[in-house]
Amino acid sequence: MLQALLVDVGRIELKDTAEPEPGDDEIVIKVKAALTCGTDLKAYLRGHSLIPMPGPFGHEYSGVVVKVGKNVRGFKEGDEIMGVHSAPCGNCGYCRRGFYNLCEKIMDKKVLGAYAEELLIPSHVIRQNLFHKPGEIEFPVAAFLEPLSCVVHPYSQFDLSCIERALIIGAGPIGLLHSAYMELLGVETTVVDRLTNRLEVAHTIASKVVLSDELEGLKGSAGFDLVVECTGMPEVWEQAVSYLRRGGRLILFGGCPGASRVCYSAGRLHYDEITLMGSFHFSPDDVRRAYQLITEGKIMLNGLISGSFRLEEITRAFELLREGRGIKYAIIP
Ligand SMILES: [Zn+2]
Ligand SMILES: [Zn+2]
Repeated sequence: MLQALLVDVGRIELKDTAEPEPGDDEIVIKVKAALTCGTDLKAYLRGHSLIPMPGPFGHEYSGVVVKVGKNVRGFKEGDEIMGVHSAPCGNCGYCRRGFYNLCEKIMDKKVLGAYAEELLIPSHVIRQNLFHKPGEIEFPVAAFLEPLSCVVHPYSQFDLSCIERALIIGAGPIGLLHSAYMELLGVETTVVDRLTNRLEVAHTIASKVVLSDELEGLKGSAGFDLVVECTGMPEVWEQAVSYLRRGGRLILFGGCPGASRVCYSAGRLHYDEITLMGSFHFSPDDVRRAYQLITEGKIMLNGLISGSFRLEEITRAFELLREGRGIKYAIIP
């Protein structure tokens, strides 16, 4: 089968590899759609600690079951499925206390290699985070399950009832998903970005859109209840607190390069009682929530797909993203 490997920074190679064979508790799917993701783009541009090179690439997928291990229950050949690429172990200290997204082993056996004709799904993912795809949901839309699971995660951690206005910094796929989800929850969102083409898409989702240059005017005491940082740039992490009202919350969603350091005004954090909140990954509850949102058609996801490419053309998709063109691309093997 054909598989795309990320061999080095900026270099994807297509290889003809052996078709995966499922163990007794595993299944193999034929990938029908795999989506490009901000994490993949980071790996392509500068390497990523969670995506080894050279190695299989891509983790947002949907497809059809083609081979089933003999112990697998609930899925059979021909089933259309949607899933995420990880699941917690259930046994470590974090899992036992319910912090499933922080599971010590969550990244150990993750599914990479969605940019391929076939993909092996391991037993822990099948048991917890793999779902049947309703026929009316298109495969590329179903592949949003992973990014949407990440996006809904922080909102289960605090009381949203006093959040009326939110600022989302960065109109990439993740920022736009945050906007779409919060608008659904009745929060008025303002999305800011430096690229007008992204703001055109944001315009269809958010209450307001603002170019980065105009953001200075939004600082001050009548700030936002919530700011969501989705750029992963340390300087933006630092600036983001200045758009909050007193008592506001900043969700630090965009991951910065590992060695980054940030600096905040102690006065702002203390006297204005600002909450800084990191957000990483998702728990099985978040995946179920995201599954519900997708299958009930609650969020318009099609508009976030800027185009599709065959597997052989995958580099073209990442080069467009490098140039800041497009939100997400569907890779159709
Ligand atoms: Zn992703
Ligand atoms: Zn665990």
